[in-house]
Amino acid sequence: MKPPLSPPRLSLTQRFITSLVPRSLAEDMERHSRAWKIRCCTCGAERSIWDVGGIRYKAYSKGKYTLIRCVSCGCLRRAEVYDSRRPGTR
Ligand SMILES: [Zn+2]
Repeated sequence: MKPPLSPPRLSLTQRFITSLVPRSLAEDMERHSRAWKIRCCTCGAERSIWDVGGIRYKAYSKGKYTLIRCVSCGCLRRAEVYDSRRPGTR
C-alpha cells in the first residue's frame, strides 16, 4: 500500500535524504530549501533550490555562487544562491 499523499516528484537527493530523517525534519528541510533561491547570473531566471532538486538546510552563507543547469539558458551557468526570506542578504 502506498501512502495516500504521495509526494510530488522528488530528486534522487531529496528522496534519499528525506527517507533517512523523520518526517518533521524532512518537511522542515523542504521549507528551508524552498525559501532558498538560486538566480542565474546570465539570464536572471530564478528558482527555489527545492525546485531544482536540491536541499539546503541549516546553512547560512552569504554571497554564495554555484553552478546550475539553467532551464532558461539550457546549459550550465553560474548562479547566485540567496535566502528569499532575508532580503538583505542579496
Ligand atoms: Zn539562465
